[in-house]
Amino acid sequence: MREWRPTMSALSRRLLLLLTLALAPITNLRAQLSFTFDYSLDSGFFSGANAGRRLYLEAVGSYVSQFLTATSLAGITVGGSNTWTAQFTSPSNPATTHSVTDLSVAANAVVVYVGAAGLGSSVLAQAILPGITASGEDGWASNTVLKRTVGASTYTRASVAALSFNSSTNWFFDSTPLANSSFAGQYDFFSVAAHELLHVLGFGDTRGGSGWDKNLFSGAFAGGRSLEEKTDTPFGIPLNAGRDHWAANTLSFSTRDGAVQEPLMDPDIAAGVRKYVTSLDLRALNDIGYAAMLTAVPEPSAYALGAGIFCLIWVWRRRRGQS
Ligand SMILES: [Zn+2]
Repeated sequence: MREWRPTMSALSRRLLLLLTLALAPITNLRAQLSFTFDYSLDSGFFSGANAGRRLYLEAVGSYVSQFLTATSLAGITVGGSNTWTAQFTSPSNPATTHSVTDLSVAANAVVVYVGAAGLGSSVLAQAILPGITASGEDGWASNTVLKRTVGASTYTRASVAALSFNSSTNWFFDSTPLANSSFAGQYDFFSVAAHELLHVLGFGDTRGGSGWDKNLFSGAFAGGRSLEEKTDTPFGIPLNAGRDHWAANTLSFSTRDGAVQEPLMDPDIAAGVRKYVTSLDLRALNDIGYAAMLTAVPEPSAYALGAGIFCLIWVWRRRRGQS
């Protein structure tokens, strides 16, 4: 990565100080989203001899976070009558359901339990959204744990998720992911992890009432900011059959250099290919609620998101017929 080291005059320094002071309250309110990775359910992919892989994952988390500087998620703090539970498929054992009760989540943070498992020959990784039950003081469950309000709209909140990588995949870990790299025959951990983290945020969440779901129109994605880019499909941008990714062969622009690129949230990726977040991916994140300030709206008492276990699993298939 390139560093930016400006030389500064004393006046510039003073101006910077003034600007910093002036912007401080705004920065506090409109903070950067952060991913908190939890490795307690990992069974070796990120542990022991592979513990060094955590740095690669943290770097991907930072990469995705940098696009979400105006996030306003309240922290989840339990106590008194407030209690909540998240249930999700274990990232290291798809046959096991894991349950987390009364997890504290910092403001603007999303907790991601990571691990790896044999996911079959066509799946590189999967993001797993939890089923959540919550109850407590008036409005706490619905406003703090389960949803958030941005402007005049209400969105499903991202608070905790699981992320499982295929332990059998031949992964490429890149310490310089923003540089051009060559890795024929290997699958790019950077691209796949970034893709799944966007799912964690709610991209492709087809559960009723989610920010994504509310933008679906006749099976296509009709978010206003996304349509501004895709003016050739004014009634909705085509999606894949599962309605949780852009349709294959969709094109957008890389945030790295503006080059035409398949979106990160395309349904598949071939070996040897790197994908960056594209402008269309970012527009969709805006459409599902990640650009504006949170405004809490009082709502009555306990509420549950769905009934029982509520897992969504995305698969990112290898493209057949491509090397
Ligand atoms: Zn996906």
